[in-house]
Amino acid sequence: MKLSIIVPCYNEEGVTHLFYKEAIQHIQKCPCDYELLFVNDGSKDKTLEELKELKEKDEHVFILDFSRNFGKEAAMLAGMRESSGDLVVIMDADLQDPPYLLPEMVRLITEEGYDSVATYRVDRKGEPPIRSFFARKFYKMINKMTEVEIVDGARDYRMMRREMVDAILSMPEVHRFSKGIFTWVGFNTKYLDFENVERVAGETKWSFWKLFKYAIEGIVAFTTFPLRLATIVGFLMSCVGFLFMLYIAIKAILFGDPVAGYPSLIVVITLIGGIQLLVLGVMGEYLAKTYMETKHRPVYIIKKKY
Ligand code: UDP
Ligand code: MG
Repeated sequence: MKLSIIVPCYNEEGVTHLFYKEAIQHIQKCPCDYELLFVNDGSKDKTLEELKELKEKDEHVFILDFSRNFGKEAAMLAGMRESSGDLVVIMDADLQDPPYLLPEMVRLITEEGYDSVATYRVDRKGEPPIRSFFARKFYKMINKMTEVEIVDGARDYRMMRREMVDAILSMPEVHRFSKGIFTWVGFNTKYLDFENVERVAGETKWSFWKLFKYAIEGIVAFTTFPLRLATIVGFLMSCVGFLFMLYIAIKAILFGDPVAGYPSLIVVITLIGGIQLLVLGVMGEYLAKTYMETKHRPVYIIKKKY
């Protein structure tokens, strides 16, 4: 049995060696052969050089070098495509995904028959409070709107059987939201929890803006509910408009029509204008996704394999 460990790395200079030193101890406790697949996601620092040093020390290390930064989703996809293990696990380079869970994950799959073992953080210690707040809201919202169930605090740290990896790879979409894809494909998943660990070195690659875009991506990828919402809001506004029209007509018949109502007119115009723009924006979001998907561009480009 072989275990493939996929590690996306973006500007992880000074982190990769720490990761290797810590992870390898736990990997060797697993009763299987292993390969360590590092994906260098267009790092602008010495990450690639460091990874090559690791490869010289350990022949189980393989490197996929992207031609530029394609994002973590692309890196995970590339890793899964290139992996050859019967078991595949995805881990962050910064040791925020504790490697001591690896032997337990292997045991749960090989002995207890689970198809996949996923992890989630029970707390968000050390994270900016605003980020935690919006992250929580995001999970609440996406779980309400979609059929896929995404556990709050779920990490991409997850071990899967080959069958499940193949199922994931059979999904051709370009805009990938793995947290949703993992649950969408089904399979029997066991969840392990752990307490949040802070990054060993380096800093987070996720700005607030990047996370915001990622959240929109997730919603658009897994539900068309916002489009439905546009219809509902449009319908309600039409009802209100109709009633208002009746009210004005009756008022004019009964009391005549003194020239007044400029402020309320402006309020109504801006309100409806705003809602129209919002709805257009939502439609544009989906149209843009459709447009990009129809181009069938590759999700990433590998410059070189080591
Ligand atoms: N990462 C990547 N490409 C990116 C951004 C991040 O491959 O464009 C990798 C990064 O090197 C790390 C993992 O994804 O191994 C998680 O990133 P990070 O620790 O910055 O995210 P956080 O833990 O703050 O959510
Ligand atoms: Mg991290």
